[in-house]
Amino acid sequence: MNLEGVRGGAGTSGREDSYIGGKWVPSASDDRYEVVDPATEEVLGEVPAGCAEDVDRAVDAAQEAFEEWSTLPAKERAAAFAGLGTLIDDVADELVELIVAEVGVTLAWARDVHVGRLSANIGNLLKLADQMPPPEGIGQSLIVREPAGVVGSISPWNYPFGFFTKVVPALVAGCTVVAKPSEVTPFSVYRLTELVDRLGLPPGVLNVVMGTGENAGDPLARHPGIDVLTFTGSVRTGGQVLSAIAGNITRPILELGGKSAAIVLDGAPFEQAVRGTLWNCYMNNGQVCGAQTRLLVPSSRLDEAAQIAADAASAYIPGPPRDPASTLGPVVNSSQYDRVLGFIRSGIEEGATLVCGGPDRPLGLDRGYFVAPTVFSDVQRDMTIAQQEIFGPVLSILGYDDEDDAVRIANRSQYGLSGAVWASSDDEAVRVARRIRTGQVQINSGVFNGFAPFGGFKKSGFGREGGIYGLLEYSEVKSLQLPAGSPLTISA
Ligand code: NAD
Repeated sequence: MNLEGVRGGAGTSGREDSYIGGKWVPSASDDRYEVVDPATEEVLGEVPAGCAEDVDRAVDAAQEAFEEWSTLPAKERAAAFAGLGTLIDDVADELVELIVAEVGVTLAWARDVHVGRLSANIGNLLKLADQMPPPEGIGQSLIVREPAGVVGSISPWNYPFGFFTKVVPALVAGCTVVAKPSEVTPFSVYRLTELVDRLGLPPGVLNVVMGTGENAGDPLARHPGIDVLTFTGSVRTGGQVLSAIAGNITRPILELGGKSAAIVLDGAPFEQAVRGTLWNCYMNNGQVCGAQTRLLVPSSRLDEAAQIAADAASAYIPGPPRDPASTLGPVVNSSQYDRVLGFIRSGIEEGATLVCGGPDRPLGLDRGYFVAPTVFSDVQRDMTIAQQEIFGPVLSILGYDDEDDAVRIANRSQYGLSGAVWASSDDEAVRVARRIRTGQVQINSGVFNGFAPFGGFKKSGFGREGGIYGLLEYSEVKSLQLPAGSPLTISA
């Protein structure tokens, strides 16, 4: 794709590439890196790698802006973003193109999921201003919530616009933000930041520092001027971020990886459950943190499940994301490609049954990081492909003996982000879902709800995003101890 004219894209100066204090400014460092189209392996552009000095300037700007922004009523803060949805919808086609070029998802997926819901999602986040809890009385105390301070936000590449699910609630809650989006997908975020710039927010309320994890992410996490660090990414980086913030006792919100299980109980609509799980596993080219990548079925029905899954997988057509015939794009980059193929090889070596797909390139695709739609059956609970997050279109089917065994397998994971239970009734599914140690569970054909809290148990992280739960993560609770008989006392 020709990114001429897109900030940072090939053919532009690519110099003024961080947004600090309400202005586009050049990085203080000359280090740069190349951004590559995962479908063609062509270089899309070269952008700054960032540095600690860029972060320092951004945190200074956010601290200065905090004084006034934090005192505004939440509804006034939300109103400052009122025009954003329209600005987004006006350039939706352009945003779709950028997502396809950077992430490699199909045109249809970029249009329907990445961009199509963006303005509505932001609108819903802004409506949270109406749900801010009023002061509460406990005895002679008045309990109020205050903005938590300056928020550092570090986000991944799989849904580049997901950085808004951190930034918007933080801003509505009265915090100011320094965001460091993923270096893998800078162009879409540049474009979105240009739209935010047109809203005329007070300078420094939102700052976006571009750069790599090492050059810009680490200095942001370590910065003593950050009060809350919200991070979405891998468990490995999440651990590094925790170490980095330890010295400052910065409050963390961590949204990390997953290896979620879909349990199909006896009496469930079997074919629908297997097909639904495979679809869920392959979403976004198999690159979703909460994807259901382990399918648990009664051992006696393993072959039947494998056959249905293979049939469903065969309907996926890997190919160039802009070709309307393609239904599965590439994984995001060469290191992710090598990693996914490594996991597929480990499945074969450790003795799982390869039902379809495998480590070979899909036919006719000589360039790009394309992985064949892959299904393994007879996967044993401690195999690598049953334990590690693969982040590619690879489904592992495991057999269980009875309900207790299914729950045991589902919980035998370092992760606890998501999952599903399919049963003959919602009651039965809920009963089993309550036994799974995970942050959200799909009940039969239930769908994702952006107003409900989203987050992890165990190594999937802590803290919640989504709805009012997500917003309140960006506030601190303060108790005001009133004198006896104060007219301000609110009865409990
Ligand atoms: P990643 O951990 O490699 O990078 C995430 C972000 O961290 C990037 O912006 C990166 O530049 C930055 N980073 C890297 N090293 C850093 C360091 N030392 N200090 C500070 N920041 C650093 O993850 P990724 O490959 O971009 O994304 C994929 C991972 O994200 C998967 O594990 C996926 O499950 C997870 N994820 C989780 C959720 C969730 O809500 N739980 C959502 C999406 C993705």
